[in-house]
Amino acid sequence: MIPFNKPYLTGKEGHYIYQAVLSGKISGDGVFTKKCHQWFEQNYGFKKVLLTTSCTDALEMAALLLDIQPGDEVIMPSYTFVSTSNAFVLRGAIIVFADSRTDHPGMDESSIEVLITPKTKAIVPVHYAGVACDMDIIMELASKHNLFVVEDAAQAVDAFYTDKNGVKKPLGSIGHLAAFSFHETKNIMSGEGGLLAINDERFIERAEIIREKGTNRSAFFRGEVDKYNWVDIGSSFLPSDIIAAFLFAQLENLQDIQAKRKSIWHQYFNQLEDLQAQGKLILPSLPDFASNNAHMFYILLPNLETRTALIEFLKANNILSVFHYLSLHKSAFYENKHDGRNLPYSDHYTNTLLRLPMFYELEEEQVAKICGLITTYLK
Ligand SMILES: *Cc1c(COP(=O)(O)O)cnc(C)c1O
Repeated sequence: MIPFNKPYLTGKEGHYIYQAVLSGKISGDGVFTKKCHQWFEQNYGFKKVLLTTSCTDALEMAALLLDIQPGDEVIMPSYTFVSTSNAFVLRGAIIVFADSRTDHPGMDESSIEVLITPKTKAIVPVHYAGVACDMDIIMELASKHNLFVVEDAAQAVDAFYTDKNGVKKPLGSIGHLAAFSFHETKNIMSGEGGLLAINDERFIERAEIIREKGTNRSAFFRGEVDKYNWVDIGSSFLPSDIIAAFLFAQLENLQDIQAKRKSIWHQYFNQLEDLQAQGKLILPSLPDFASNNAHMFYILLPNLETRTALIEFLKANNILSVFHYLSLHKSAFYENKHDGRNLPYSDHYTNTLLRLPMFYELEEEQVAKICGLITTYLK
């Protein structure tokens, strides 16, 4: 059986976890949390980062930091994971869903401006498959209409955007805030885990407070205040140092992990190109401004029936492939809250996108076998 995903251990995870335990402090913000924070700030130039227990938590922190109030509107793609929306719905926000691009499942940047009203508070671009949204357009809209931008960079570790002046920027460093995921299905993982990147200094102090149950504990431990007090709303968003220890082992091997995933991605692409030329499927296409972090390899099939049948065919041959996002504007929870606009491209990807196995230990012969079966089936 070739699974869809298999968590990869670099080898040092257990050792670092043991070290964390021996340090005598395994609650949040211990030695390994600090190492991870430093790693992200140094490698990607984020102004400030805070590890969280998930990307979902980082998004919830972002909604709290932006002071989202009932009735505020937040613009985001419909083709995304529920957490992107849930975080803002928990604060009472109305979600205004944007459609996907014609050439990519990411949000169609040109469809955003007409959705902006006096109640709009934020735009939440999702870098689907680690492929950048056009951040120049989004940041210009935000500054023109006085909005905040929260990047859902759950899939976008080590992915980049080249702006109109040719400057290459890490995803997660552009919006006011950004959220990353280290769920076991992502490139770098800690089982469950996440990160909030704060690029607008105004949010740093309050982010620390919200993450520590609404207390000024972080400032107290740095000796900046002499009383540890309840000063704001908050929750427990920080992970145990055991999680951070696991994550740090992964970060030390990031370049190796990325190189391997990119190699697998290109094997898939090269071996399926003929089918694309014959019009049997469509392969991922990346806008010029986006880099490829090889988070996922997906194909687009002609219709839902073909996709369903291909999943079954691969399964019968012991290969697990998956589809995901069902347009959120048509979900059981949001359907009757949606404003009724059709979002045809979001539905298109809902019905036709298929994700193929993608993980560090996937072997060349296995990729060849998968591509061979897809070729046999679609021909
Ligand atoms: C994985 C994912 C999330 C959620 O991440 P968790 O760490 O599991 O909370 C949110 N948004 C997107 C786009 C994702 O892919």
